[in-house]
Amino acid sequence: MKAIAVFPSDRKVTTIDLAEPGITRPEHVKLRVLDVGICGTDKEICSFAYGAPPDGSDYLVIGHEALGEVVEIGAAVAHLMPGDLVVPTVRRPCSHARCRSCRAGHQDFCETGDFTERGIKGAHGYLTEFVVEDAQYLCPAPHHLREIAVLTEPLTIAEKAGAQLYSLMQRRPPWIDPAASERAMGLGHRALVLGAGPVGLLGAMALRIVGFETFIYSREQEPDPRLAVAKEIGATYLSSQSVPTDHLEAQIGPIDIVYEAMGHSLVALEVLKALGPNGIYVLTGVPGLRTLIESDPAALMRDIVLKNQVVLGTVNAGPQDFVAAIADLESFYRRWPSAVRSLIGERTPLGHAAESILERPAGIKRVIAI
Ligand code: BGC
Repeated sequence: MKAIAVFPSDRKVTTIDLAEPGITRPEHVKLRVLDVGICGTDKEICSFAYGAPPDGSDYLVIGHEALGEVVEIGAAVAHLMPGDLVVPTVRRPCSHARCRSCRAGHQDFCETGDFTERGIKGAHGYLTEFVVEDAQYLCPAPHHLREIAVLTEPLTIAEKAGAQLYSLMQRRPPWIDPAASERAMGLGHRALVLGAGPVGLLGAMALRIVGFETFIYSREQEPDPRLAVAKEIGATYLSSQSVPTDHLEAQIGPIDIVYEAMGHSLVALEVLKALGPNGIYVLTGVPGLRTLIESDPAALMRDIVLKNQVVLGTVNAGPQDFVAAIADLESFYRRWPSAVRSLIGERTPLGHAAESILERPAGIKRVIAI
């Protein structure tokens, strides 16, 4: 079977032939991979700036945003059947006894850094025809989400952030009623999303659906499908080409939440200055290293302290975030069908995947169809 592999030492991204994997343990599930989304992390891996092959291998099969169909189950698998659609989680636990998070099944909060991530760090990914995975790492998806369920993984980033926001927001003004449901947590609050890529737009949908007045700040200008998505979901789009970061506060008013999904360290720091009192700044981007700037850390620190602000970094996601993402995708699709559909700009066949990963897709996101 074909797979897309990165050979970091040869600086090569290519299609390779692998033997089809088989079930070897009772808890195994064999999947036919249907769709794999390409994101900024994949581009970094294919530029040899991030990621690592499994120990002892000179290549890494990439792909971590996947949708698969169950083709075979091991004897101990009770909750899945051949024909079911599933989305695999990405991170696998480290093996250290001292890692409280991994030992409790929260490897998205791994404390040692020795976790692996399928398709990213130390474990092969899903950009291939068949994979075998433990049933515990598979999240079922309904058949009517077949066309869009590949967006689940990028949405889990917002789900994990949202769960933390909900508990933080109950403890700071403008208060949310602790008895109010998480579905209404944004009412009366303003959120700014940085970046109009898939993670930013899915984050904006997640903020809109719980009632936030939502603004999206990115570099694109009309005409662009990202602006159409912003409009359909009822968010206000501000282009960085016409609104400088130091005008954001005046344009928007006090910002309660920033959801950063741009990975641009300079813009992220500039926008931190616009965060309102008691605001929460969620960082999800993983920028390249070594951007040097002149900055006044004392001013930043004074602001964060004197305005009771929270800066929260978040990475990866747990199984409950995958379940929440599937449920939210369903709500988004019901409410904004064309916006959700338009996130997937281009479906590229596996045979053209290797050379297309670094190209900008037509539309918003590239998905490899297998
Ligand atoms: C993935 C996460 C992963 C992170 C860091 C992101 O693109 O969505 O699952 O933890 O990269 O490797």
